[in-house]
Amino acid sequence: MSDHPDPLPAPVPGIPAPPPLGTHALPAGTYDGVAVFITGGGTGLGKGIAVEFARLGASLVIASRKEEHLDAGRVALEALGAPVETVVCDIREPDSIAAAFDAAENAFGLPSVCINNAAANFPVPAEDMSPNAWRTVVDITLNGTFFVTREFARRHLAAGTPGSVIDIGASYAWTGGPGFAHSAAAKAGVKNMVESLAVEWGPYGIQVNGLVPGLIPHEDMTDDIRGNLARADPEKDALQPAMRVGTRRELGWAATFLASPYARFISGHTLVVDGANWQRRAMTNPTVIPIREQMGRGPFAAD
Ligand code: NAP
Repeated sequence: MSDHPDPLPAPVPGIPAPPPLGTHALPAGTYDGVAVFITGGGTGLGKGIAVEFARLGASLVIASRKEEHLDAGRVALEALGAPVETVVCDIREPDSIAAAFDAAENAFGLPSVCINNAAANFPVPAEDMSPNAWRTVVDITLNGTFFVTREFARRHLAAGTPGSVIDIGASYAWTGGPGFAHSAAAKAGVKNMVESLAVEWGPYGIQVNGLVPGLIPHEDMTDDIRGNLARADPEKDALQPAMRVGTRRELGWAATFLASPYARFISGHTLVVDGANWQRRAMTNPTVIPIREQMGRGPFAAD
């Protein structure tokens, strides 16, 4: 006898699609005269977040390493009429970060919002992960996030002005991330850091929050990440409790809310925007397939 009702129920609709691109819950001009500093804001989710701040009147400073990424961000934001400053910066280097904030201050004054979006990531079985791979991901994702946040806060503390930090995280900060041990550990560090810094800097008017995207596919995904996604069921919507993947604007709306005057009493919090996907755990998860097998690697061989 089948465990399923017969006939099978019709497909459920899931969580409705969000309002269209270009709309907003916050009042027009919420960020008029406000400068937002965002790392990695020229690609993917960072660009999606920057765009939503631009729609609400913000000036944007994009910091990342590659000119082509900075140019892509500039084009997207200028198309919305936003003032944009781009600056080459490697967030692993505190001097490079200080120079980026100098450029930001010269362009727009000290930014009131700092979004730590830049990160590095690629899937690899832990036993194959080189010390250099581990160091690089932790250096960019955890150390870089701290260095940028520290520079932002020191400038606000010196000026006696309030500010808002948003660190882009990942849900494997809570669950672990098989195949992504370096990135998951770094993101766990970022989430924990949000909690420490929010308390340390609350007295000076600096809010520190985390924002975690769910599965939000975009055209700038690296080949590694694309390949990792391709290994799962091609029907990505059906893999989510929401019965759909997320959109960049939904992440951008959450960021613009968290840094807005309407969220002043929210600090030390990490908000997950993933349609409850990360809570989808049960005693009967899908069949266990070792990571190296999922990645098509042969048996482990120490060289
Ligand atoms: P992405 O397209 O790979 O973008 C990463 C950005 O970070 C790039 O613009 C890159 O620019 C910048 N960057 C990397 N290393 C840097 C460094 N050393 N210094 C300065 N900038 C650096 O990533 P994404 O998919 O948009 O993800 C954005 C954030 O969301 C990340 O924090 C990621 O962990 C998180 N996230 C994404 C998803 C998803 O579904 N996509 C899910 C969960 C969490 P340059 O190359 O020009 O430096």
